[in-house]
Amino acid sequence: MSFVPLQTRTGTFAGEYLRALPDRDVVIWGAGVLGRCLMRQLRAFALPGQRFFFTDSNPALYETRIDDQPVLDLELAMRQAHAGHALLVTAVAGHLKEHAARLVAAGLRADEDFVSYLGLSRPEAVIQVSTRHGDTVDAMPLDTCQAVLAKLKADIPDLFHVDLSGWGEPLDNPCLADIIRATGAIAPCTVTTRLLADKPAIEQALRAAPMQFVVTVDGFDTSYHTNTPDGNWEIFVERLRFVSEMQRQMVGKTEIRLRYNVFRNNDGADFDAMRALCGELGIRMVKAIGYIDPYDTTLRLCETGAVDDPASPQPRRLAWSLREALVWARVDRERPCLCQRIFPVIHSDGSVGICHLYAQPRLHARYMAVDFEALQRLRLAADHCRVCQRYALHRLDVDVLQSRHAIHLIPPPETTHA
Ligand code: SF4
Repeated sequence: MSFVPLQTRTGTFAGEYLRALPDRDVVIWGAGVLGRCLMRQLRAFALPGQRFFFTDSNPALYETRIDDQPVLDLELAMRQAHAGHALLVTAVAGHLKEHAARLVAAGLRADEDFVSYLGLSRPEAVIQVSTRHGDTVDAMPLDTCQAVLAKLKADIPDLFHVDLSGWGEPLDNPCLADIIRATGAIAPCTVTTRLLADKPAIEQALRAAPMQFVVTVDGFDTSYHTNTPDGNWEIFVERLRFVSEMQRQMVGKTEIRLRYNVFRNNDGADFDAMRALCGELGIRMVKAIGYIDPYDTTLRLCETGAVDDPASPQPRRLAWSLREALVWARVDRERPCLCQRIFPVIHSDGSVGICHLYAQPRLHARYMAVDFEALQRLRLAADHCRVCQRYALHRLDVDVLQSRHAIHLIPPPETTHA
């Protein structure tokens, strides 16, 4: 059985990139979360005298400052790049091709006057700051988290982003606000929550100003109740209104969004209803594809041959056919693992997981006690990756499969209602 070994790093190191541009300014096209993470990473390796700017497709941002960096008019930025005074870095996921086409049409040369952010190395890490075990919570203490962050910074000097959630509910951690501040001192961070905590915990987290605060939800009203057995719809809506109110109060640096995970029973009318609610509350909403999370369950279904078993409830929840997606994933089996850029994944007990898709196994019991190179060697030798790749789960990403193979794995909403 073929195996595609993992790599410890892909893309060009930020410092190396900037050393090749000693006399040029850097202009990042895209002032959203991605562009801001990139700005933070690149500025940490700035050469003396090197200047950094944002530009954006939204003219309302021109002549403002974001994260203390000026936002240039896009036309001006293009002229600067065309004249060889600046390098434009496109950093708007999903619009790279159209932005590149616009720049080429304006006479700019790819890889000379402009580049895409994809060529840069963007190592990310996960610190799951809390884990629920039934009614109890295992929360990473603040001092442990601070030590982990210091080691992360030493291990990965160009750390691009830190996810503080993993498979846990970060608002369960009573030290979350301090953890967000400590993380923000070394890298931008995201908090993803199902809003199962009360308002004071939500307020403290927002006031600590993570770069991104994501509310993740699996339905609207009845489908919410069905898909979130430990949640309460009325309380969820009340807390979402509170998030909206906080957003209005805080002219903040935190980007707040709601991620609506589409399953078989919650697209169509329920999705539209949530979109209307978010519109009313002024909360940006993004549509995402619901999976069987974590991948441990999907792997078990593959190993036991239960992917097509009508008695197996998980695949039937999905808005897409797991069986069909696995067929396409197997076509891509010889391609690299899609998630290897995100490492290490540190759990609330200080152990290190194999990757952010799986809850198990652990590579090491204590991140603080292991040299980073040794940790990378453990990952490169991990049997679990071989098992995962046997079923092509390292390529099971519905968006990627649809885009690569020009297929539709998700039927239109009308036909997905149960
Ligand atoms: S377990 Fe699978 S998805 Fe995770 S790093 Fe290994 S090959 Fe990639």
